[in-house]
Amino acid sequence: MQERKNGYKKVLGCYPGNPGNRLLPAGVRWMPGPIRCLDAATESDYDLILVSFSNADARMQNALVELCRTLKRNLHSKDTKILAVVPSGHRDIVQRIAEGGIDYIRISEMKSNNGFFSQFSERIEALGPDDRSENVFARVCPYITFRATGRKQGFVTCGAYRNRLVLGRGRLKEICEAGRFGVCEYFKDPKPLEKRREIAG
Ligand code: SF4
Repeated sequence: MQERKNGYKKVLGCYPGNPGNRLLPAGVRWMPGPIRCLDAATESDYDLILVSFSNADARMQNALVELCRTLKRNLHSKDTKILAVVPSGHRDIVQRIAEGGIDYIRISEMKSNNGFFSQFSERIEALGPDDRSENVFARVCPYITFRATGRKQGFVTCGAYRNRLVLGRGRLKEICEAGRFGVCEYFKDPKPLEKRREIAG
């Protein structure tokens, strides 16, 4: 079995997609959905459980949040470290996970099965205090707003600018989700929707 620097030898992954066995890194057991992941997590011992929210629609996202919270309440799995990998722009998920006492969060895009498993080891190698869920949540601007356009798609806007500003990956990564929102001109002088009526009047 593969020895990882951080000691996470035995890892359970929950990802709503089919990777094919050839993509599985050594020491990783993969489950395609929350119910099977919960069964696996309570049947055996793991060093880390990674729950990926990539490619999940709103219903699956809710189920995965509930999975994380249930794992932390379950007597068998409550002491197992959990890492949630959440796509950019989903502040609400980050908040619910942090409030559920989940250990770590990484905000990261993993759009394909290949990408998910090729980056799997690298993502869990360097987990540290910056990845603690409460610290990640503290870095995320409260004005980030995800607007769904389809079952899995959507775009991210700035609630401090009447949701008219679409936030690109670069700005999210560099400012909005990086704990730098205090320097942002929209954060410092928000113009939420209610203000529009005042201006018009
Ligand atoms: S643009 Fe500024 S106010 Fe808007 S979400 Fe990003 S950091 Fe927050």
